[in-house]
Amino acid sequence: MAVRSPAHLQVNDVSVTYHHAARPALEHVTFGVPEGMRVAVVGPNGAGKSTLFKALVGLLPIQRGEILIHGVAFGAHRECVAYVPQREQVDWRFPVNVQDVVMMGRYGALGWFKRPGKHDRAIVARCLEQMGIAPLAARSIDELSGGQQQRVFLARALAQEPHILLMDEPFTGVDTTTQAATLTLLDELKTQRVTLIVSTHDLNLAATHFDRVLLLNHRVIAYGAPPQTLTSENLLRAFGARAVLIENKIVVDECCPPEEQRAESESE
Ligand code: ADP
Ligand code: MG
Repeated sequence: MAVRSPAHLQVNDVSVTYHHAARPALEHVTFGVPEGMRVAVVGPNGAGKSTLFKALVGLLPIQRGEILIHGVAFGAHRECVAYVPQREQVDWRFPVNVQDVVMMGRYGALGWFKRPGKHDRAIVARCLEQMGIAPLAARSIDELSGGQQQRVFLARALAQEPHILLMDEPFTGVDTTTQAATLTLLDELKTQRVTLIVSTHDLNLAATHFDRVLLLNHRVIAYGAPPQTLTSENLLRAFGARAVLIENKIVVDECCPPEEQRAESESE
């Protein structure tokens, strides 16, 4: 992997509001992630987790605040941040083969008009192998299972050789082989000091595989080591009274908004 300066990510007072939305999806979000740290982002549906990831990779404009990577405003070194989107947010009908998707991870390093060389092809082959999808290299992604598709996107992110890797709900709706491959990948990337930010609904996973938890519900409810963050009081503030723990996964009755939102609407 290329020589790097520390992959410090600093998010300062960031707010994002979608066009025509009544309230911001993210409000005054501030947190910092040192190099090589693994952060789990936990929060109810609609909390702004995907919005945060999109803002971090410049797919959404921020109306307020700043995002600094290596101490510099995002944009200067875009290619050092890789992003694996949430499954539902990808148009899987796009007719492109697995190897080409993974090669897209190399374009940041290559520049769009240069052709991939031997070195790039070797990296792509290694990433396909690592995610257990080498035999699928020539297949079109729309023919694959959900888990295989996810592993293609993970391989693409790996091929980018990122300093910071963002994964939006990589454990949701995929088979156990893919979950296991993703967990192995998390461990491997830790040894390479890649900074990881991963959203999940699995509190067990957040507590066991991550150094910090960012508990989010439009604002930062809590941020820190899992035992200090995943307290019943914080979970109640983030998820509301209808949140229940089933095998350490948060299940929320979605008909009932969290406390904070309910208090707001009741006072209106
Ligand atoms: P999460 O990933 O935590 O489920 P999202 O980031 O997807 O949450 O959504 C945060 C909020 O922004 C929600 O209220 C959602 O309805 C809203 N939102 C998300 N995407 C859009 C969009 N493209 N246009 C308008 N509002 C959106
Ligand atoms: Mg989401």
